[in-house]
Order: sequence, then structure tokens, then C-alpha cells
Amino acid sequence: MNTIDYIYRFDPEKPSAKPPPRDEEAARRVLEDGNRLFSQWMESCRTRTPSRGEPRYIVSCNGLEVGMPRTYGEMPRQSPFAVVVGCSDARVPTEMLFGQGFNDLFVIRVAGNVMGDVCQASVDFALANLSESVRVVVVLGHSGCGAVTAAVDAYLRPLKFWSKTVTPMLRSLTQSLFVAVREAANGLKEVWGHDAADAPGYREALIESAVCINAAQAAFGLRQEVEGTGKWEVEVLYGVHNIRNHQVCMPVDPSAPRCDENVRLASAPSNPKEFHALAVQMARILKRDDPCLAPKTIAPPVEVAPVPGEAVSGTRVQ
Ligand SMILES: [Zn+2]
Repeated sequence: MNTIDYIYRFDPEKPSAKPPPRDEEAARRVLEDGNRLFSQWMESCRTRTPSRGEPRYIVSCNGLEVGMPRTYGEMPRQSPFAVVVGCSDARVPTEMLFGQGFNDLFVIRVAGNVMGDVCQASVDFALANLSESVRVVVVLGHSGCGAVTAAVDAYLRPLKFWSKTVTPMLRSLTQSLFVAVREAANGLKEVWGHDAADAPGYREALIESAVCINAAQAAFGLRQEVEGTGKWEVEVLYGVHNIRNHQVCMPVDPSAPRCDENVRLASAPSNPKEFHALAVQMARILKRDDPCLAPKTIAPPVEVAPVPGEAVSGTRVQ
């Protein structure tokens, strides 16, 4: 194989070639299956061993719904089945890594997938105006996130953070990630010990754990927002794209080899205690000294049942 083809296939004669998922569970499966296929395809490109004789990756698109109406000038109807809040990082092309095409995803991208007012309003817009088609809201972080890395570095060495060369808006974005970094640091301290910060690989572990917790916190806040609008049928999910093996997982082992079973979009936390449980789980995953000893499959995040009468609303999620 000398060439690699990534193909968007439009067929105006078969507009219903790819029917939209009927409910939130089907939507989750479509995204996870799309990512399994994409990561498998990327792996086959890397190793030059295309599976089952198909050296192409084909994404079916509904021609009529993306601006190929039979009557010229007719406006196509917007009908995404998922709202995705992801990072602006150029290495994380949302539609590609989920194997989706035109009109499938309503994508909001901001550095560090930080939930500011405008970002939240964009989700609200989608829920209010595209409710006929939207089945899930997904928060998507990614390994090696530059915004989270900046927050970790500011957390560990705050002096540069307060330099006048850092603009107020950038400082505000970085600050909104500190809660996740602090939670990640607590998890590492609990699992690695009190001298965790002196251990080799601490900074990298803090970054990868904070990426997961940041996505979980944003999903927690969005879940409350979605439920507040009465859209009980819309599920909020979260995951992290591992830019090394191209898989979307939760939790994520950044050095794990590709494995279909690890592709997972987790349900948004319903209790803030799940952030700590996730921090501990990530600290255990990242503690491994030898990457070759990585478990082939990784358990899903721990869900903590709310204590009756315990308030979970109003918790700061950024
Ligand atoms: Zn990023």
C-alpha cells in the first residue's frame, strides 16, 4: 500500500444511507464504533497492515442534508445527533476521530474544553433549537492538552503565571483549570505518597490526570444544565482522546496500546465525589513503572451514588 485514502462519500440518490441514531444509547454506540474504526484504520496506516483488504476509510454522508438538494437554492436542514465540546487543539479533529461527516455533530471547540459563558450558551442554543435530532452532549478532552499543561505549570511554578506578558483573558482560562489540577494532585498524593511531587514523571501524570478530571467536571456541570432545561432524554457523556493511539477512552492510559475494549464514553458524574474517585483511579493507572505492564483493558470510572438529601448542585465545576 503506497497511498492512504480517507473518503467522504456523498450519494444524493441514497439520502437515507446513514439513518440518525434513535436514542442516546444508539448515539453513544455510533460515536464509540466510529472511533474504534478510525483508530483501527490509523493503526493500520502506521503499521502498513490494512485489515481485511480495505486500505480506505469511508465516511458516508447524507448528500441531501449537506447542501445537495435537488432544487437549487434550497436550504439544508441542520440535524446533528451529538453536541461535542472539545479542545481547539489541531491534533484533535472531532468529526474524523468519531468517524462522522457533515451535519452529524454540533461542535464547540475552545482551548482546554473550558466551559465559559459563551461555550455554555452554545450548548444551550443547540438544546433549544436542535432538540429534534440531538441525543447526546459529549465533553471531549485529549491527552497532552496544551491548555491543561499550562495550568499544571502555573500550579507548580506560579511566578510566570503572574507575569504581565500573560493576558488577563488567558490567565482567566488557565485559572478555570486549577480545580481539576488540584484534584489530580490530591489523587497522586494519595496513591503515590506524600513525596509524589518529587517522583519521576509527576508533571506528566498531573497533566494526564487533570485532563480526565477537567472533562469530568465539565460533564458534571453540563448534566445539571441539561437536566435543568428538562431534556431528560439527552445524555451527557465525557471522554478523552488519546492522541497516541487515537482512541477515545475514560479513564485513559496515555501509553496504552490500541485496544477496542478501551474505547468508552463515560456517563457524566452525578456526584462531585466521583472526581476524587477518578483522580485516584488515574493515579493508579499512571503509577505503573513499566508501560509494558499496562492492563489490556481499563475499568470504567467509579460511580458514586448520591447520599439521600445531599446537595450536589451549586458545586463549582471549573
Ligand atoms: Zn487541548
